[in-house]
Amino acid sequence: MDRSFGGTHEWHEEDVLITVRAYPVPSARYLEISCVAGITSAGALRRLHPIPDRHLDPHARFSKFDIVRLRTKKSEDPRPESYRVDLDAISPKIGHLTTGNHWEERTQWVSPFRASSMESLSAGIRDHGKERSASLGLIRPRSISRFEIVRKPSSDWDDGSKAKLAQESLLYPRRVEPLQFIPYDFFYTFHCEDASCKGHRMSVLDWEIKQSFRRWSLQYGSEWQDKLRQKYQDELPKRSSILRWDAKGQTSNLDDHWALLST
Ligand SMILES: [Zn+2]
Repeated sequence: MDRSFGGTHEWHEEDVLITVRAYPVPSARYLEISCVAGITSAGALRRLHPIPDRHLDPHARFSKFDIVRLRTKKSEDPRPESYRVDLDAISPKIGHLTTGNHWEERTQWVSPFRASSMESLSAGIRDHGKERSASLGLIRPRSISRFEIVRKPSSDWDDGSKAKLAQESLLYPRRVEPLQFIPYDFFYTFHCEDASCKGHRMSVLDWEIKQSFRRWSLQYGSEWQDKLRQKYQDELPKRSSILRWDAKGQTSNLDDHWALLST
């Protein structure tokens, strides 16, 4: 059964280091989907979408900093990094980058993609168009001034999302518990290394922070915010890069979504 989209581009095989996974969103076709960012062994950034992560065959599931062999092809999305994955041909992981030796391996993979600033990434898109400029990019912030935990206006999925999550899918038999609504958004405010930088406030899409919320709100009760701040405000930013994500293709908007990448 072909569970991947059609299209005009050719499939090819490549090894991809998974660097970021976004928390899933409800999907009419796949129950739920996630967007994944990675780096190929040939040295290219990839935005891999859609990935019905939690509903993949168990042997095909992967984690952050796994290296996996995938069949991919350019998607119809005009952004140069956007690729689709043959969901029936995900090889078991062929490697995993640990944090040993001061995160040396991770740094080697990631550092070629460091841009100097959010401003330089945005200038590229403005000057050359989104088909020819990087819509994914890494920057290391000069300073992070604020971490916010903001309650969402609603405390559950809307009716449309509930219907998507409740459907019976022939393609994806239900393997896991229903996707949990995360009633908080998480924001960082930071400055980058650019003389004109006026600061950026961006929401964090990263799966890990939402997983931390799920786990710690159960484990620590009302103390969960303290635990979350301890990790994401005090500890992680020291060695984190920001992956400019541009989840909605609104590349002209400076204050976009982003994901945290610890390297
Ligand atoms: Zn900036």
